[in-house]
Amino acid sequence: MRQQTEKRFANSLVMVSKGDDPYETTRELLQTFPLPVLKGRRVLIKPNAARVASPGQGVTAHPGVVAATIDLLKERGARRIVIGESCIFGVDPEEAFQVTGMKEIAEKRGMEVIDLDRSDPAELAVPKGRVIKKIKVPAILREFDFIISIPVMKTHMHTQVTLSIKNMKGLLWRREKARFHHLRYSEKVTRGHKELDMAISEMASILSPDLAIIDGTTGMEGMGPAYGRPKRTGMIVVGNHALSADAVASRLMGFDPERVPHLKLSAERGLGEIEPEKILIQPDDYLKWRMPFDPPPSELSIPFPDIVVHDEGSCSACLSTLLVFLQHYHSSLAGYRLEDERIHIGVGKNLKACPEGTILIGNCTHAIRERGIFIQGCPPVASQMLLSLDRACQTVSSLNKPRNL
Ligand code: SF4
Repeated sequence: MRQQTEKRFANSLVMVSKGDDPYETTRELLQTFPLPVLKGRRVLIKPNAARVASPGQGVTAHPGVVAATIDLLKERGARRIVIGESCIFGVDPEEAFQVTGMKEIAEKRGMEVIDLDRSDPAELAVPKGRVIKKIKVPAILREFDFIISIPVMKTHMHTQVTLSIKNMKGLLWRREKARFHHLRYSEKVTRGHKELDMAISEMASILSPDLAIIDGTTGMEGMGPAYGRPKRTGMIVVGNHALSADAVASRLMGFDPERVPHLKLSAERGLGEIEPEKILIQPDDYLKWRMPFDPPPSELSIPFPDIVVHDEGSCSACLSTLLVFLQHYHSSLAGYRLEDERIHIGVGKNLKACPEGTILIGNCTHAIRERGIFIQGCPPVASQMLLSLDRACQTVSSLNKPRNL
């Protein structure tokens, strides 16, 4: 792990390739990429392996990409090579490593896959942090001197895209990841930015990979990072500066990095180049491979037309929970329609007005719980919300009850 310094950005190099086989495409690209000396290095590979998803779904990194990286590191004499991940809350790491294929490729090569959350925590200060002053990371990170981020090329409901910088959020220790979704600051601090975007760019100033290998072999568009559609592009993007690699990948996906808030904020913090003129990109005509991804929907009512979300001042933790809940249980909510035939959901600390009978999600809506069906939690647990909803319904006394009461 290394801290960003101005000197690093003098020579941002990003190389792009495209092919049918994830292993071969990655291997050929890495063999031509001018990597630093790896002999004797202790390398942590941080793929996106944070969920239980099989290869090729666009949710987690393809094991072929990771395997090609390991094989190259071995050839170049790396002393220690480890795959490490801190899975999202509620995911069994053993199951995730098995299903994503990480365990198999590691075992075949006689190396470790480690659950980073089993390490003790260590605290790092965030210089000039506006929304995060320090972060907790697994102390075991100290044992490595070279970190490789291998994200999947995906859109993201809260951050527009998720690439190699955002993937480093998986190096935060246990629930520290969730803290990023709960940050609440005044306009004076945020100046119109979302706290999550600011936190990611501040994290990037101290938790930056030494090499980014972006797996676009099968990416994800729409409702990423977990509920979108797989997008097969065959592309691999490698960069010696994560922010520049993300900027190039973002362009290939059809997004202007100047309009991706966490990339723009990172560039404004001096963490690297996102302007194509300032990055050496090979091949020159890389944009011939541009494949626009469908953006994430700006409102949940787009993928769920019968849902009306009354959101006043929510944080992304509740919105993520709501998305997961709707993805799994939307079809069970028909009985909660109000007179306008729609299901109203309220969320956020500033919510004052919503129709009676609204499903109120999260402790922030406790003050107006009399207006609807209140589900407690900060955020509530998506898998338990339907049960909470049924229980809470039994106590609703409003005249404007959902029709199943
Ligand atoms: S209740 Fe929801 S919106 Fe309120 S702080 Fe908790 S997670 Fe955020």
